[in-house]
Amino acid sequence: MDTHAGFDVIVIGAGPAGSAAACFLARRGVRTLLLDKTTFPRDKTCGDAISYRAMQVIEDMGALDAVRAVAQPITHVRFVAPDGRQVSRPLPPHARYDSILVAPRLQLDDLLKQAAEQAGTSLRENAAVESYTPGADGVQVTLAGGERLRARLVILATGANTALLKRQGILPKLPLTMLAARGYARHLQADPHEILFNYDRMALPAYGWVFPLPAGRANVGAGFYRVGPRRRQMPATARQSLADYLHNPLVEAALGGQTDLDEVKSYPLRVDFLKAPKTAPGALIVGEAAGLVNPLTGEGIDYALESGALAAEWATGMLAAGDFGARRRNGYARALQKHFAHSFRYHAFFRDTLFTYPELLNRALALAERDPAFMEHLLNAALGILDPAKILAPRFLWRLARNT
Ligand SMILES: Cc1cc2nc3c(=O)[nH]c(=O)nc-3n(C[C@H](O)[C@H](O)[C@H](O)COP(=O)(O)OP(=O)(O)OC[C@H]3O[C@@H](n4cnc5c(N)ncnc54)[C@H](O)[C@@H]3O)c2cc1C
Repeated sequence: MDTHAGFDVIVIGAGPAGSAAACFLARRGVRTLLLDKTTFPRDKTCGDAISYRAMQVIEDMGALDAVRAVAQPITHVRFVAPDGRQVSRPLPPHARYDSILVAPRLQLDDLLKQAAEQAGTSLRENAAVESYTPGADGVQVTLAGGERLRARLVILATGANTALLKRQGILPKLPLTMLAARGYARHLQADPHEILFNYDRMALPAYGWVFPLPAGRANVGAGFYRVGPRRRQMPATARQSLADYLHNPLVEAALGGQTDLDEVKSYPLRVDFLKAPKTAPGALIVGEAAGLVNPLTGEGIDYALESGALAAEWATGMLAAGDFGARRRNGYARALQKHFAHSFRYHAFFRDTLFTYPELLNRALALAERDPAFMEHLLNAALGILDPAKILAPRFLWRLARNT
């Protein structure tokens, strides 16, 4: 069967990246079809934390009020250093928002997909893409089951599921991933507006988290990279790392001793943006499918949304010019690099230095406790609203080196 539905763009994958791309394309009058292999609302294994940057794009999509209604506002953050030192601070003020948010992906992704539909996108759920074939007159997309659809361009937004990218020969082998697992606690007994990051009792680079949700629930998780000097001491699996984390005394206290979390799931995080393919003939690649997850914090919702918006802009230009060639595609890849590569390099550097060696992280968090300016830099850099290079300011390096 060959369906000529008359779409300009087919977006494959209705996570944050795909829904943002589809929403902004449809707003520009582009005939857009959004496909997902699942049916919504669908879960996505995640920490559920939504940064200021993500909130900005969600607001641009017209969905922020709806997301706020299902989210927990977060105003404070607590870090626990490898030596057990606890540092708690309010999040630095933001020009536009007075809190970040934590919202279950089950609801967040449903609302983002609805925003894309409200903008005029056509949606097909339960539509797994088997392959696509670029040609002179556009791209033919084949669904599992054999149905064929046509468009002038596809946007690949398939997240960390690399099956389609591998079948297309875009990603020959699985790149370095962070391994992480999360579950839901039912009765949080800690501050419901404070997120917790633990670096104690872990083989770094790794961390555990407790992120409060509405109705006294919490998203609890742990993640690690199997790299660095302590890789042999790391847990065998992400689920094991989460099971170990639940026995951290601070977490036991925060969860009232609950160790049987609901919906425990693990999933990899692709953090290979700098080397990852960002386009292919007939296609632009967005979000985690392009390796776009912060290699230090594991945040990917904001990068997914921003890259979706960027791809919509470039796709519109390609459609207007009727030019889908390598030069235009490379322009999109360069725009992605310009937007993300600098901070990405620094975050990877901090992961491999400050956040890998316990003594360095102890010093950094001790300095953050003493020096509000350093803490604010650290938080704003982690939140992606300050150039992370500023953490390497000589006055901070000097104090870190001297441990004063
Ligand atoms: C344990 C864990 C914790 C995390 N915590 C956070 C956090 O707190 N904050 C944060 O910002 N990020 C976090 N992340 C990262 C974040 O979840 C992802 O980076 C983000 O979901 C990427 O969005 P995306 O739209 O690119 O892909 P996804 O959200 O993965 O969406 C991809 C979509 O594509 C669909 N799809 C895949 N293949 C096909 C196909 N062949 N045909 C049709 N559809 C297909 C899937 O069904 C899915 O709906 C975490 C990740 C993990 C694993």
